[in-house]
Amino acid sequence: MSTQFFAGINGVLNIVSVDKLLDYYGNPQLLEDRIKQYVEGNWADKKYANSISLDKLGWHGDLVKLINKWVDNEPKDYDIIDKWCSLMDYALLKEGFFKDQYPDYNTVSPAVNAVYPTTTDTIEFAPHWRVVREGVKYQIMIGFDTKDLLPNFNHAICRLFLSHLFYGIHAGYDQLESYKIEVYRCQCAKCSKPNNLFHVMDRHGRRPTYCSDPCRWEGNNEARRKAKAVRAKTKVV
Ligand SMILES: [Zn+2]
Repeated sequence: MSTQFFAGINGVLNIVSVDKLLDYYGNPQLLEDRIKQYVEGNWADKKYANSISLDKLGWHGDLVKLINKWVDNEPKDYDIIDKWCSLMDYALLKEGFFKDQYPDYNTVSPAVNAVYPTTTDTIEFAPHWRVVREGVKYQIMIGFDTKDLLPNFNHAICRLFLSHLFYGIHAGYDQLESYKIEVYRCQCAKCSKPNNLFHVMDRHGRRPTYCSDPCRWEGNNEARRKAKAVRAKTKVV
């Protein structure tokens, strides 16, 4: 391991907080922009921010599928969410811990790693990147023997952000404390939200019908127009 970065986790958590899931549902570019901005603010060398790219990771289609299922009250799709935040990740993240690296290794049994070493001359595995969160801090390490510093950095930091982003889906489904988010579909035909989806935090009681007052007014107008049309028809008949 050669290149190491240490930082606090709060900047990461702000970007992937559960109330921002629908931002990214509607606009995947926004997540990349925010990560880039974050890296720019924390790494003096601009090459790190410039290396950020979520393009090839295929996360957005999965996020959309998971949120659609959630809204339709379908069970959590473990096949999909597992790729981003496995049950093991979820359990550890609840306690503020996260760890991943490439090449992967068996976290349960270090003996297995010794049997399948990633280099021939040592039983010490040599990851190209590793990211570890411990409570309020995290660190990223990039292997010294790799020439691909920036792609590895990108993978490590994206892994950190995306695991925490998809954690929000687990936690939202399970209604964990401070993740009591519910996603609804606005009934106003002219709603400007992507797919008419909106979220409500810590709501108890009735299901909301509209995402906002303007949508409520517009929705009421639509209902009135419909009622009028029905009345007009009745008159003709
Ligand atoms: Zn609306």
